[in-house]
Amino acid sequence: EKPEIEGNISFKNVSFTYPDTGIEAIKNVSFEIKKGQFVAIIGRTGSGKSTLANLIMRMYDTDSGKIEIDGKELRNINLNNYRSKIGFVPQEVFLFSDTIKNNIAFGLSEISEGQVETAAKNAAVYNNIVDFDQKFETMLGERGITLSGGQKQRVSIARALIKEPKILIFDDCLSAVDTKTEEEILGNLGTIMKGKTSILIAHRISTIKNADQIIVLDNGEIIEKGTHNEL
Ligand code: ATP
Repeated sequence: EKPEIEGNISFKNVSFTYPDTGIEAIKNVSFEIKKGQFVAIIGRTGSGKSTLANLIMRMYDTDSGKIEIDGKELRNINLNNYRSKIGFVPQEVFLFSDTIKNNIAFGLSEISEGQVETAAKNAAVYNNIVDFDQKFETMLGERGITLSGGQKQRVSIARALIKEPKILIFDDCLSAVDTKTEEEILGNLGTIMKGKTSILIAHRISTIKNADQIIVLDNGEIIEKGTHNEL
């Protein structure tokens, strides 16, 4: 059985301590994200932002409190099906010495050229790719070409989008690019996020003006919650 995921996320008094270090990274955190919302998580380095994203992907179980997806406890949801509905854009792009096409379709079988092209268009990297002689067959890495930081980032976004995820998580992936590239990517974010629950972890508050909700973490706790205007 592969039930649909709608993308409603709820944290109820969630706490989490990394078992290996004993660091309590998330402390009694509660919030509600409605399907389709754009939520930004900000906070200083070490405040628990990535840990929150990890908990949403269920890389770990909570120590106490509850995470619910569409009203169902996350720990009772089929994990493979759930993860297949999450598009995750990591902090650091990971590209293979392979074609651009295979880098975008990474890990998926039976992907058509059309799907790869659509993902590239939505991630605003299509025009860059078709400018290369070999287009989507262009090799990256040691035996191929080197993409710019922004292009890499957008290939990584295309890789997340090709899954047609219900939940999209950007883990601080924009802090690694310059402001111009960031603006370029953000310009397309509205289109990218349409109809998806989107969670953007960021450092710069300017990045997240349009968020439906901003969650400010400090030392594992939520210290503020609201829209850009409210905060
Ligand atoms: P940054 O902005 O630097 O990415 P962050 O806000 O994402 O920081 P986290 O990475 O969630 O913060 O870290 C929260 C706390 O948990 C920190 O004290 C960190 O040292 C600790 N931590 C993070 N990952 C692990 C891990 N895999 N094992 C043990 N402790 C961890």
